[in-house]
Amino acid sequence: MQTYQDTADVVHFIGGADARGVSTRTQPVFNPATGKSQRQLLLGETADVDTAVAAAKAAFPKWANIPPIRRARVMLRFLELMNRHKNELAAIITAEHGKVFSDALGEVARGIDIIEFACGIPQLLKGDYTEQVSTGMDNWTVRQPLGVVAGITPFNFPCMVPCWMYPVAIAAGNTFILKPSERDPSAAIFMARLLKEAGLPDGVFNVVQGDKTVVDALLHHPDVCAVSFVGSTPIANYIYETGAKHGKRVQALGGAKNHMVVMPDADLEQAVDALIGAGYGSAGERCMAISVAVLVGDIADKIIPRLAERARSLVVKDGMEPDAEMGPIVTRQALERIENYIGVGVEEGAQLVVDGRGLKVTGREEGFFTGGTLFDHVTPEMRIYKEEIFGPVLACVRVKNFAEAVELVNNHEFGNGVACYTRDGNVAREFGRQIQVGMVGINVPIPVPMAWHGFGGWKRSLFGDTHAYGEEGVRFYTKQKSIMQRWPESIDKGAEFAMPVSK
Ligand code: NAD
Repeated sequence: MQTYQDTADVVHFIGGADARGVSTRTQPVFNPATGKSQRQLLLGETADVDTAVAAAKAAFPKWANIPPIRRARVMLRFLELMNRHKNELAAIITAEHGKVFSDALGEVARGIDIIEFACGIPQLLKGDYTEQVSTGMDNWTVRQPLGVVAGITPFNFPCMVPCWMYPVAIAAGNTFILKPSERDPSAAIFMARLLKEAGLPDGVFNVVQGDKTVVDALLHHPDVCAVSFVGSTPIANYIYETGAKHGKRVQALGGAKNHMVVMPDADLEQAVDALIGAGYGSAGERCMAISVAVLVGDIADKIIPRLAERARSLVVKDGMEPDAEMGPIVTRQALERIENYIGVGVEEGAQLVVDGRGLKVTGREEGFFTGGTLFDHVTPEMRIYKEEIFGPVLACVRVKNFAEAVELVNNHEFGNGVACYTRDGNVAREFGRQIQVGMVGINVPIPVPMAWHGFGGWKRSLFGDTHAYGEEGVRFYTKQKSIMQRWPESIDKGAEFAMPVSK
């Protein structure tokens, strides 16, 4: 089992075993807290995708034919193994992503929730049945797996986001190829090995490491039936268009700019806690992070000094330190992008209340750290309002009233998550009804839906028709078949030339 201390290369997992394939290109995998490369990642080639798809295609007929309850039992054993090894998995995540260990454990727990949901697959696959649609004739629907399906995932949740996909896909009878992020690829291999230990047949779950070469090979491969993607909006758009062009079913979840509206009647301390946790947790590298605080009426003057004090005193250090509240940024390039945006905000005329740039952490001087940054008087025309920064930068926009807040949120190109803090039931109700966003929290800052509800944004935060996991996930990974049946005793003699109707 690979652990975060390993220095071995990060490899593929194909046909039930670690594989190097034909890959010769490699790329370093960094520990963002130390800034040092800890191992090399093999970058897959088109031939590696071909091998993985062939393994998955060969495994499909037998796996699809196994009764759902027996597939569920494999998931149950996997569930047990994931729970047993969650600390090792979380340590791997912290070592490659940088998020604090307790947060990595939280991501693993939310991934495990979906494995648990997938254990209910016999119930989820139950079809509909109508007796006597015509005399002597019955009609029913079943949902059958698609075949080989692929998942392409981002760096920010190397366990949870793959778990949005593969547990449901394989429990439903598909075989799966995962292309994890090249920034933190080891969690995928760890889970692949646990799946094998749980008794999953070889070829049902495969991992091909790599970059655009692997993604494009999956998008073009005629034997890949469906692609699930989570990542930034430009790539999500590309995946959706290219996958559809090649006849695949696609769900592509994109970027975000999540607002939290704070009404004048909100509990001030709760709103501050929520903005600090959701703005700076995981260094703002969550697709459901709050990056815009919409401060309604006179709440702004009360809340800004409190936010500033808390942002300045964030404990930023190596995520393995027990008291760390925020870890490093995933890569040096991402750190530079974030700090560059802070400069842009200043040039655009926003008021920089807390400047996190240039933070040095003692003993981790080479790590990719930045502190929490807070802007006030941000306006909708500014780039720091419009664009996804994906870092610990909280932008405060002041508005006069509820209607202005709703209009602001609804005019943004993204619509992933949103929150509203209020004590007023009618405001809460109208917010839920009027807001053009896929996931809404009322006094809940990060409303990531539970495993059986499904996850998905609106507007340019999701391309495709179905949300991830939950019953939407089951629908995405299965196709419906309708069967009508009668027996010779109930068949009238003679050919029918009119459209058949119920008799
Ligand atoms: P990314 O778009 O850079 O990468 C995502 C995946 O796409 C990776 O596996 C990567 O290897 C691949 N990829 C990158 N460039 C590609 C290209 N040109 N062609 C083909 N494939 C390519 O995203 P990231 O930086 O890893 O993750 C952060 C982004 O993901 C943010 O925008 C965040 O909002 C988004 N995200 C969204 C959700 C959601 O549910 N909507 C969840 C998590 C993350």
